[in-house]
Amino acid sequence: MSYDPTNIFARILRGEIPCSKAHETEHALAFHDIAPQAPVHVLVIPKGSYVSSDDFHDRAGDAEIAGFWRAVGETARALGVDRNGYRLLANHGRDARQEVPHFHVHICAGADLGRMIRPPEKS
Ligand code: AMP
Repeated sequence: MSYDPTNIFARILRGEIPCSKAHETEHALAFHDIAPQAPVHVLVIPKGSYVSSDDFHDRAGDAEIAGFWRAVGETARALGVDRNGYRLLANHGRDARQEVPHFHVHICAGADLGRMIRPPEKS
């Protein structure tokens, strides 16, 4: 799948639409999810153009990968969720129901998040 530069996170990176920023580094931008599924729900995205985790880990350089994952940890600490815990999640592709085709990691926290995988809803 080729990268679609009109996806919503690409537009956020270009400043065309606003976001509620949580953290920013040379390699990553973190912002609050527009439809939070936990008391704290933040997305961390690389600044480079990558469709998904598969694409990112295949094509990104070592500095981008290291910088991105360091930013994930920094974001969690900036949010103050490192003490009680948090869940990281990245959806890749159809079976994971990835909606936005720009790689992102969800940070969910702020309450007991329950079991890791729930049965799929009927659709
Ligand atoms: P995924 O299913 O992993 O692709 O998740 C995409 C996430 O992006 C969902 O949790 C959406 O609520 C979130 N989202 C979509 N549009 C925006 C936006 N403009 N600002 C913040 N979060 C968004």
